[in-house]
Amino acid sequence: MVLKAFARRFPLQEMTLYRFILPVALAAVLAAWPAMAGPVAPPYEVGTWQGFRTAAISFTFDDNCSNQYAIAVPMFNAKGLKITLFTVTSWVSDWSNVQDAAAAGHEIASHTVTHANLGGVTAVQLTNELLNSQTTINAQIPGQQCVTVAYPNCVEPSDAVTATYYIGARTCSGSIIPSSPGNFMSLSSYVCGSLGSINSLASFINTGNSAANTKGWGVFLIHGIDNDGGYSPLASATLQATVDYFSTNQNRYWIQTFGNVVRYIRERNASTVTQIASNDTTLTVQVTNTLNSAIYSFPITLRRPVPTNWLAAAVSQNGQPVGFQNFVLNTTNYVMFDVVPNGGDVVISRSVPPPVLSNPAASGSTGFNLQLNGNDGVTYAISSSSDLVSWSPIQTNTLNGSSTNLQLPAPEGQQFYRAQWVP
Ligand SMILES: [Zn+2]
Repeated sequence: MVLKAFARRFPLQEMTLYRFILPVALAAVLAAWPAMAGPVAPPYEVGTWQGFRTAAISFTFDDNCSNQYAIAVPMFNAKGLKITLFTVTSWVSDWSNVQDAAAAGHEIASHTVTHANLGGVTAVQLTNELLNSQTTINAQIPGQQCVTVAYPNCVEPSDAVTATYYIGARTCSGSIIPSSPGNFMSLSSYVCGSLGSINSLASFINTGNSAANTKGWGVFLIHGIDNDGGYSPLASATLQATVDYFSTNQNRYWIQTFGNVVRYIRERNASTVTQIASNDTTLTVQVTNTLNSAIYSFPITLRRPVPTNWLAAAVSQNGQPVGFQNFVLNTTNYVMFDVVPNGGDVVISRSVPPPVLSNPAASGSTGFNLQLNGNDGVTYAISSSSDLVSWSPIQTNTLNGSSTNLQLPAPEGQQFYRAQWVP
């Protein structure tokens, strides 16, 4: 059984596929990338979107409709994707659903206190709607800061007052937001569901394509789901198909909460990147800005070619490892990494490429023959998994020469293997 499963879904092909598809997708993106003006010292570049993806996508939900918690949150949780729940604070009778969603990483943002039409309220009422909803959410959700708001009925009040309390605010004029918006207090979205312009998988995909074509940001606005009584209901089957589509196209689309995309844009445009030291084995870089680090602490993506005599690089910030990736663009080795501005010195260290497992061959019911290719003297670790999420160590060894053959066990249920370089 294991052998058949292995032959049909051989894991290393998936891992290898990922290793090759991502660089190709990145190369396509980068070839079309305009030179970024700004205080980023070459050869460093900052990604317009995290991971140098083509476009950003946010899924936002208004009005506390019950199926947002019963259906949408679990649906996005299953894919590890985060959404924004614009919450009318006086409509919440039990905060436990909201708190559970926040604990799963979703953004809890403001949709005012009473869902008032903010174009028809007094100055005092406007302040109360914007500030008191934020205060309530911050009290109920202590692990987050409420930093964005969605205007009820998409009626936009004084931008200056809104900007006193929020870093970004959502309207619903149905257009793609440019990568550097002119007004963060008037960020557009597309109304979804039976009364909106987006009510099918095809229309979600078309909007994603529009965002990608302009390297912009597409924001979806969803109210009701199925028969929960919410405005302009969207069928849960359509939402599921949409989540599946965007989840499997994350090489192209950066799917993130409304507030974190605002953070990213503002940090990207405000940050200075300066290399302050270099030698044969390390480069030291500072990424700084004058934004309030208590709010603006979302990692931004940088990349640079590795020095010509290096094969690859590893990256840390403030002494801690950060997410990084080595890839080849045309014939140049690049390293791409995520760092938090004002989060301490970034150190890029000379390293060697990770080993690659290949040439699978079943050798019997108890194991598989595999080939490991890498650099002489590399220390590698082999792990196995049944789900590509939880990995168990199989062996750690040093590669003698550029290639070796391994026999790995095939315990029941462990269908996937990977090799990683060990520093
Ligand atoms: Zn609303």
